[in-house]
Amino acid sequence: MSFQVFGIPVSRGVAIGRAVLVASSRIDVAHYFIDDASVASEIERCLRARDEVVRELETLKVDLPGDAPQELAALLDVHLMLLHDEALTGATKQWIVERHYNAEWALSAQLEVLARQFDEMEDEYLRERKADLEQVVERVLGALAREQGKGQGNAASVAQRDFAGEDPLLLVAADIAPADMMQFKRSVFHGFITDIGGKTSHTAIVARSMDIPAVVGTREASRLIRQDDWVIIDGDVGAVIVNPSPIVLEEYRFRQRQSELERARLARLRHTPAVTLDGERIELHANIELPGDAPAAVEAGATGVGLFRSEFLFMNRGGELPGEDEQFEAYRAAVEAMQGMPVTIRTVDVGADKPLDRMSPSELRHEHVLNPAMGLRAIRWSLAEPSMFRQQLRAIYRASAFGKIRLLIPMVAHLSEIRQIQEAIARVKQQLTDSGHAYTHVHLGVMIEIPAAVVMLPLLLPHVDFVSIGTNDLIQYTLAIDRADEAVAHLYDPWHPAVLQLIASTIAQARQAGRSVSVCGEMAGDPAFTDLLLAMGLRSFSMHPSQIPTVKQRVLRADAARLSAAVEQILGSEDPAAVAELAFAGQRHRGTTLQ
Ligand code: PEP
Ligand code: MG
Repeated sequence: MSFQVFGIPVSRGVAIGRAVLVASSRIDVAHYFIDDASVASEIERCLRARDEVVRELETLKVDLPGDAPQELAALLDVHLMLLHDEALTGATKQWIVERHYNAEWALSAQLEVLARQFDEMEDEYLRERKADLEQVVERVLGALAREQGKGQGNAASVAQRDFAGEDPLLLVAADIAPADMMQFKRSVFHGFITDIGGKTSHTAIVARSMDIPAVVGTREASRLIRQDDWVIIDGDVGAVIVNPSPIVLEEYRFRQRQSELERARLARLRHTPAVTLDGERIELHANIELPGDAPAAVEAGATGVGLFRSEFLFMNRGGELPGEDEQFEAYRAAVEAMQGMPVTIRTVDVGADKPLDRMSPSELRHEHVLNPAMGLRAIRWSLAEPSMFRQQLRAIYRASAFGKIRLLIPMVAHLSEIRQIQEAIARVKQQLTDSGHAYTHVHLGVMIEIPAAVVMLPLLLPHVDFVSIGTNDLIQYTLAIDRADEAVAHLYDPWHPAVLQLIASTIAQARQAGRSVSVCGEMAGDPAFTDLLLAMGLRSFSMHPSQIPTVKQRVLRADAARLSAAVEQILGSEDPAAVAELAFAGQRHRGTTLQ
């Protein structure tokens, strides 16, 4: 039966493929693809974990005290029976063999399939056995996790491979942790659908960085869609069409072809400098998550990296953080890949919706209860871990000997933080001099993500070389809207007059103080805001490489001086989006290049 689910469109385009459900187990499992050579050992690993649980349960049964209720022994028998059932083990093996899922993923995928079958059973007693199945699977997952802990490889250490199945695959999940998203980067998925999340949740950001259609905040997609269903993701409007009719399928295939043609057309702008009609040169920089993203940035025509989210180097490591040398190599690789263009490295921004996997479950739970977005994240975390912070600074400064690096600090709100950062930098430079490591001058910048930082810009600006506006968090903190919460996603509004005034004020103050200013939040890559940001005086944008051609096209058609005449009116209006649309529509020129 064909049906539709709606959510929030977060990454444009159309994807058509089969659904792959990633179950949200109570145990947080890693999801990654294994290569051909690892299939047999992965099955082995799964069976070993199963056998360990069988032994545990058998021992439990033997040790049951004489006065234990009879039902308990019977329950253990049910669990043992489930463990030996082909519907669980046989099918799990099949996921490993056919889809190349790692053991944990295969097991939780099969749990999902069986849980649905239990849900549909008429008999109440049998229906309730679902809970037993979940317990059994969680025990096996626990055994696998213990084995992992003994150093038998982890998600990050297993080579990714492009698993080319017959049909394109679309990932469907309740939620995808940023760490898992990184595993899926450059893997097989052609689209993402999640139940939760908002436009600037990190799942959405990573999906955009992969240039893959995605719809989040669907609330129920992972419950309604079944493993292997044919699904269309319409990332432009936020629709998910499940088991489409042949006519609908054909229509979407046509749209897919059209957008490929449009993409190819825009790609020809790659070597065209981003200059407005009135001659203003605009920097279009790239946001990257790993050094491996840098070639795509160059390919898209970026003139530098405006935001290297270094925290992604710290994820998927089974609790181990990268040491100084490893970080240095990563920063150096990014700098070298950018071929002399500047690379802005942001110090780790962990916490909130980007927890490190070394955080214990109780820490994570704790974070859920309190308010993680306002907790120990970003620079607060770095200053709370001074040796880790200095280690990162050393790695960044060492890489500065190989190219142009700028240092960017996330979530600054206090002058005292800048002082501590400067002290740490001074100490690190001394250490590097003492140990004979080369480094050059590195510009220091702060992210403007908290309204307080805008208010105190006159005090902050004298201490920094540049500022970068993180609109994703600035909107979150100005409007008190959790950026990852789909329940309030409709209130997350970049057009809110308060948000626009903060952005305009930051740009104006920075320019007046002679400091460079850029926007590296999602607004920078959204062509709906290009004219407005240019009008406010912004000359540096940083976005996902895939967004550069579209924004460049806007820049080429803009007259910055004429646009700026409308700013006052837009900022003073109750409905800035409507006023901007009216004011700019008349001015939009046809570009000089590709029409
Ligand atoms: C932002 O907040 O706008 C930003 C660029 O940082 P992140 O999205 O990584 O929090
Ligand atoms: Mg931010």
